Amino acid sequence: MNDTPPLNTIKEKPVPTPEKVITDPKETEVWNPEPKVISFNDGNVPSDAIQLFNGNDLEQWISTKDSTAAAWTINPDKTMTVKPGTGDIQTKNVFGSVQLHLEWKAPDVVKGEGQGRGNSGVFFQNKYEVQILDSYQNRTYANGQATSVYKQHIPLVNATKPNNEWQTYDIIFHQPKFADGKKVKSGSFTVIHNGVLVQDHVEILGSTEYIGPPKNEPHGKGPIKLQDHSNPVNYRNIWIRKLN
Ligand code: MG
Repeated sequence: MNDTPPLNTIKEKPVPTPEKVITDPKETEVWNPEPKVISFNDGNVPSDAIQLFNGNDLEQWISTKDSTAAAWTINPDKTMTVKPGTGDIQTKNVFGSVQLHLEWKAPDVVKGEGQGRGNSGVFFQNKYEVQILDSYQNRTYANGQATSVYKQHIPLVNATKPNNEWQTYDIIFHQPKFADGKKVKSGSFTVIHNGVLVQDHVEILGSTEYIGPPKNEPHGKGPIKLQDHSNPVNYRNIWIRKLN
């Protein structure tokens, strides 16, 4: 018996069709979806942001230790100052992945050394700290200076300004993902300090612990927290945008 299949069933190799040459610029234009239009208020706050502190009150904040009203000092110039001893403050709202903008200024009087000079901090989901510290001509451990992801990532440069100048932090935080009681995807931080990239999409290894290694206990959304580290650090113009 002849095993050769009939001619009309033989699979021939397809002849490659030459790639279509695009000559019309319109063929690579994509018009939809159109990005939502946003605007800016007088303080340059984007219209799709939530203002966490606009200088008037601490309505958005509570004391971390007992959930009573936040007791930090509001100043006549629309700034606020850590009131040492009153404890950390945190937002009433909880957040997932976010973009956060804040402005801070080290205490008026330069006092103390290392971690004791102008120390505060911004925590995401109550677990992950980006350090706030007067790191202007003030050496400390590199993974604990201003803009470090505390004890996890050293900033690329030290962009800290002197204590009499306001400074900006723009932080993009992606939260970690958990499933079946385990972390399945790490979170990340990107930090821009005074317009300079200092943390470039770094992996969050777990909670930023003072002592010992990071922990990875499952959790959901959480507040933004500002730290009372006994130093009168000043804040103004804090806003947040939810991501994804
Ligand atoms: Mg701190």
